[in-house]
Amino acid sequence: MNPRAFLFTLLMLILFHCQTDTGIGIKNVNYINNLPPLRPNPYIELPLGTIHPEGWLKEQLETMARGMTGNLDDLYPAVLGSRNGWLGGDGDGWERGPYWIDGLLPLAYQLNTDTLIEKIRPWIEWSLEHQMEDGYFGPVPFESPPKPEPGIQKTPRRDWWPKMVMLKVLKQYYTVSGDERVIDLMKKYFKFQLQELPGTPLDKWSFWANRRGADNLMIVYWLYNITGEAFLLELAELIHEQTFPYTRVFLNDSCQQYNTLDHLYHYNIGNRYPFDEELIDRLCIEQLQSFHCVNLAQGIKAPVIYYQQHPDEKYLQAVRKAFSDIKKFHGQPQGMYGADEPMHGNDPTKGVEFCSVVEMMFSLENIIQITGEADFLDHLEKIAYNALPTQAKDDYTARQYFQAANQAMLTRTRHNFYEDDSHDGTDLCYGLLTGYPCCTCNMHQGWPKFTQNLWLATEDRGIAALLYAPSTVTAKVDSGKEIKIMEETNYPFEESIHFTLSLPSQIRFPFHLRIPAWCSSAEVFINGVSHQKYPGGQIIVLDRTWDDGDRIELNLPMHVEISRWAENSAVVERGPLVYALKIEEEWNYVINEDKFGDYWEVLPKSNWNYGLLQSGIDDPSSGFTFEINSLENNPWTQTSPPCQIRTVGKRIPEWTLYYGNAGPVPHSRPQLYLRDRAAEKITLVPYGWSTLRITEFPVVE
Ligand SMILES: [Zn+2]
Repeated sequence: MNPRAFLFTLLMLILFHCQTDTGIGIKNVNYINNLPPLRPNPYIELPLGTIHPEGWLKEQLETMARGMTGNLDDLYPAVLGSRNGWLGGDGDGWERGPYWIDGLLPLAYQLNTDTLIEKIRPWIEWSLEHQMEDGYFGPVPFESPPKPEPGIQKTPRRDWWPKMVMLKVLKQYYTVSGDERVIDLMKKYFKFQLQELPGTPLDKWSFWANRRGADNLMIVYWLYNITGEAFLLELAELIHEQTFPYTRVFLNDSCQQYNTLDHLYHYNIGNRYPFDEELIDRLCIEQLQSFHCVNLAQGIKAPVIYYQQHPDEKYLQAVRKAFSDIKKFHGQPQGMYGADEPMHGNDPTKGVEFCSVVEMMFSLENIIQITGEADFLDHLEKIAYNALPTQAKDDYTARQYFQAANQAMLTRTRHNFYEDDSHDGTDLCYGLLTGYPCCTCNMHQGWPKFTQNLWLATEDRGIAALLYAPSTVTAKVDSGKEIKIMEETNYPFEESIHFTLSLPSQIRFPFHLRIPAWCSSAEVFINGVSHQKYPGGQIIVLDRTWDDGDRIELNLPMHVEISRWAENSAVVERGPLVYALKIEEEWNYVINEDKFGDYWEVLPKSNWNYGLLQSGIDDPSSGFTFEINSLENNPWTQTSPPCQIRTVGKRIPEWTLYYGNAGPVPHSRPQLYLRDRAAEKITLVPYGWSTLRITEFPVVE
């Protein structure tokens, strides 16, 4: 270390140890929060292995272990077999290997399954044992261009991007293993990056790395908090400078509508570092084809990640505005956006890529730890409990590349997507390789990382349950006292959540709980006695002395509410769940010889072209009847819906299929010609349980 860096580090360590007031309250001594000068975060991720799924969530993770997540090496050997570059081979050497492990690793430790942990080991070991002298790690670069093989991404092996995924894997592995080789590898690699990036910037080999630089940046901060080495903050500035300027683009108020495709979306000639300043000022989310869907899902956290080093309000404003603009111009009610693959407007049949779903969840999970803002938590639950459960088949043996809010038929046919030709109409079918294979490998992080974020340590030495699902956690509170909490609930299908505390003795610590914005009046009971009622849209803190065996009940009353979307369509929501028309389905397995492999098509066997009645929209409490059915082990995959909403609707004969899906949603206006038509009883089911569905309904008289 040079003398200047040494003095800086020393100063930081002194400052850190002298600090008694972080601005948030007493400092957490049990877990590593940000070291100065990074701003301390309100919430801190717990080590992998301390949070375990229970109830339906455990069943969901076990289904993944039996399905693609636990068996992808056998199902997809051409890419994930021993020829993979991340195992030292001459085969696939880009993102797909690390993607799979990024989801399999947390799943394996959350379920504590030895056979899955054994599958991860070669991937971790190869990376740790084959770092090069200069600090480079990952697939060995080819000396001359390799012979191309269809379906295998052999190059660019030096690309900074796939290494970002493996850094996320290694971070998780360290929190469960304490393996110091991880720290050594990262130190050496980040010194290599500091030396190399000025001449070979993030996007030297592909534009993906400049759009996804925040994934690199967050691991640099994580390592800094462990080692306190000043060079890491210098590297952080360099990575930020070479990352796409999301903050500026998100804050742009007016932009010019023009064909941005070549500049932003297209990965061969996308805007590279140093970025074209004039172009950056003319860009915004509103533009069609502005961002690539997965880049936006990953990049949206970039301003908030950097905010830790530069706590300027503009970074938070940029991200809040970005979420608002995404919803306004491209939003779908499951919490995602139409972007197949460039941004494609708010029509409910536009595609939502599976990678976008899980990456947006991961971004929100990180944003929450840094900001502690309740809105982001509501948004994360909306994606987790609507978009996530439905994009993989119930037994986790196949997945869609795109899902859509309105999907009346899933067959191999032309669709009105941007990316349709090269995917040959397979995007909506359930398969292993339909659409494009990135999601086959990347989808697995969704549930395990959501599970990992059910519980967080708090800067004020307490514990937080900000997202709700059945689980147990073991964590340290106060000054190093270990506690265990069991969370029992059928949320999001039911309204109450029960926590039971196991403590070694009486302990005072704060317990943070989120009250969702959709809940107008939540009630907390402590040991069966009403404690207090709270309005929604906030995080509450129960700071008191707790006894072993204390029970906390959080009751979140849910009511049917209507939100309005494209063409003034209506969406039925209740609590965190969005509801969609139940359509009878016929599933057909198609044996297919081309590169997309076998797949499932799903055909509608009942009518789907209904509008909802204006009278019901005006008075949801009388127009919609909620019923809970039986909740088996895993409500998402049981054969009958876990709950349903009864209402009536009218068929709109002109609303027919268009490009293999429901046609453009008819504009909601007084449809005089339908007045005399009889209303029919219809059933709405949870979006996350549905396959075929209409979610955005026209409203009729
Ligand atoms: Zn994908």
